[in-house]
Amino acid sequence: MIQKKSKNSPAKTDLKGLSAIETAEWVKEHSMDLYRGRQIREWLFKKDMATFDEMTNLSQPVRMLLKNKANLTHLTIVKVETSEDTTQKFLFRLKDGLFIESVLIPEKDHFTICVSSQAGCPMACRFCLTAKQGFKRNLTPAEIVDQIIKVRQSMDNPAKLTNIVFMGMGEPLLNYHNIVRAIENIIGNDGMNFSRRKVTVSTCGLVPFILKLGQDTHVKLAVSLNAADDKTRNFLMPVNKKYPLKSLISSCRNFPLPNREMITFEYILIKGINDRKKDAMNIVRLLSGLKAKINLIALNPGPGLDMAPSSQKEILAFREILIKNHYTAIIRKSKGQDISAACGQLSGKEE
Ligand code: SF4
Repeated sequence: MIQKKSKNSPAKTDLKGLSAIETAEWVKEHSMDLYRGRQIREWLFKKDMATFDEMTNLSQPVRMLLKNKANLTHLTIVKVETSEDTTQKFLFRLKDGLFIESVLIPEKDHFTICVSSQAGCPMACRFCLTAKQGFKRNLTPAEIVDQIIKVRQSMDNPAKLTNIVFMGMGEPLLNYHNIVRAIENIIGNDGMNFSRRKVTVSTCGLVPFILKLGQDTHVKLAVSLNAADDKTRNFLMPVNKKYPLKSLISSCRNFPLPNREMITFEYILIKGINDRKKDAMNIVRLLSGLKAKINLIALNPGPGLDMAPSSQKEILAFREILIKNHYTAIIRKSKGQDISAACGQLSGKEE
């Protein structure tokens, strides 16, 4: 029996939030042929259609039944801001009036979308503006997927959107059940059919879900590291008090990694806090033996942050130590900083 999803219309089921199997069950429960489920999913996830009336290969009675028994989540685009570097930030309003943000990032030959998994975030990382909003609620699978649909609809060439990162507002692994359901529809060939190798979930270190994520979804893992000793990490990221580095790295070592893939470790460089030579050497020791890539990002400024980014010289020196010790270390230039769309800057505010 499929759970009814919508709060406002309790008798209706949100078809955007169902997996392929659940959709098949639902059409069966409503005395429709199984192929109707596949048709509906094609309209929703491949053709990005917004209403049942647009599903033109469904008969009138079927469309009427869908209107009576089902509904479709739609996020409302409130504002789109475009950065000097053409990064775009989308502000969405949810049905209950909360706001979330997604970012469309231009790369050399494709686009990446950074999606949110929660409205707000309870993890309280010191360098993050989302944290300052506090936690509102988890997003539903349909709300996660609809960020991609709405952004894709706005693009001149939607086929260029190939990469998805769960690095927007919220800690994805705190909303584990819903992100896994969304990922099923994102990578399933009866869903949006993105390559699982182009989908990355980033966590601040929720250890109990890391191995499970790898086993359940086979997507790529990124870890927001930011310090390689427990004292500094406890200061920057309270999650470390519950799941210290030893347990975090041990769960990364168990993460199922296909050949030639690596775990990405994000490291935000903050002046005088985690950018010293000894901090780089701590990374070298901590990640020893792991197939790891390290992304170095200068702290992005924001109101109320009492910390400063490391200088370019300090960042280069830090990277040099990692490279000398045979790590892949890349300096990531923050895109969309001028519109507060860069890493740690999403706040989901309308004003
Ligand atoms: S960095 Fe991520 S996990 Fe930490 S508070 Fe911000 S959104 Fe939450």
